[in-house]
Amino acid sequence: MLDAVSHLDVRTLMVVLLWGNMLSAVLFLAYYGTVSRRSRAGVIYLPAKGVQSLAYLLLLSRDQLPDSISVILGNCFLMIGFYLEALTMLSVIEELRPNFLPLTIILAMCIAGFVASEHIYPNSSLRVAVASICMFMILIFPNLRMMVSRNTTKFKRLVGVFYTLLLAVLLPRAFVAITGGLSILTNSRIQTITFMSMVLILIFGLPAYLLLIKEQADQMLCVMATTDYLTGLPNRYVFLEAAERVFERSRIARQNVAVIFFDVDYFKTINDTHGHAFGDTVLTQLGRVIRESIRPSDLSSRYGGEEFVLLLPDAGSDSAGKVAQRLRDAIAHTIFPGHADFSLTISVGIKEGVPEKGDTLELYISQADTAMYSAKRSGRDQVVEFDPLLTYACDIT
Ligand code: GH3
Ligand code: MG
Ligand code: MG
Repeated sequence: MLDAVSHLDVRTLMVVLLWGNMLSAVLFLAYYGTVSRRSRAGVIYLPAKGVQSLAYLLLLSRDQLPDSISVILGNCFLMIGFYLEALTMLSVIEELRPNFLPLTIILAMCIAGFVASEHIYPNSSLRVAVASICMFMILIFPNLRMMVSRNTTKFKRLVGVFYTLLLAVLLPRAFVAITGGLSILTNSRIQTITFMSMVLILIFGLPAYLLLIKEQADQMLCVMATTDYLTGLPNRYVFLEAAERVFERSRIARQNVAVIFFDVDYFKTINDTHGHAFGDTVLTQLGRVIRESIRPSDLSSRYGGEEFVLLLPDAGSDSAGKVAQRLRDAIAHTIFPGHADFSLTISVGIKEGVPEKGDTLELYISQADTAMYSAKRSGRDQVVEFDPLLTYACDIT
């Protein structure tokens, strides 16, 4: 098997790489144009493949072109092509603000080092060794990030490991070039293994990128489908699904559970007076205050326009009334930059108790809502608890 590999001709493998890079660019363009128009990774992947194809074309034209064009330009283009491929990986790992500077410094150092070594000691073995080390350094950088970054996934880690294993062959190639002598088109076992690795990177790279971009898009879709855009809180569907489970658990364990339902007072006037954009800012701030005011085990959601609901399992000594008051105070004291005199009030309804047989989450939410409307009727800016005995809501503020 290894013997068969060592008989593969380097020029043939380079032609495969030349055409393979071009074809993967075309395939990617077709996919990218229809599916993932917004991905930054897609914008960089195309020139990465184009520049790599051009580099292999230059290296293959060694007999027809002067050395300075085919060898120096060919190797520099290959480094730039790998650099662009590395940028593609970084864009996939750090979607929002990828930091391209360290990689750009590595590329600048590699090109400067390669050109300087060519100028000082123009020798084909040294050239192969320097180029191999440079290409390894450029591509290993994003792969290490892919394996250890904070927001990595199992799939990203696997892609990083595969790339690293395939790239590792560049190091023994550099060693062989320095100790035994090697030229770029020499046919030898290490050369064939190196170029086979490049072919494998090409074959494995395209589906890997497409799947990485798809994974990213899936993650974004998942967030969009489950989270409210303005407040960052779970949407109503996700809340109800989780709340049903918690409610059921509380009923079985015969534990106390509370629903807090609140609505912003005079929100329409806020929109009319300060503008819709400011109304949106108020909702965003409300989301932040809610997240900071509740325990990890509590559930929260933006239930409607300016209505919010919380579910507190086993509120314990920190009764729902206290939590609601704390929330009301925190919201009243929220500072909105540029609107120094502005303050916000909410009307809150609470339904708290140990769920009996036949009680449902829907009933608890509806009773908390009834209590909230009672708070509105009583003048707003207050907390009202639903009273099951009197079957009407009573003010607790
Ligand atoms: P009340 O004290 O009785 O609750 O009065 P209100 O003005 O808050 O009640 P109303 O239900 O009449 O007004 C709710 C307003 O919330 C109307 C709607 O334009 C606004 N609203 C709903 N969703 C959004 C949103 O996403 N952004 C902004 N800026 N406003 C929203
Ligand atoms: Mg309102
Ligand atoms: Mg409302």
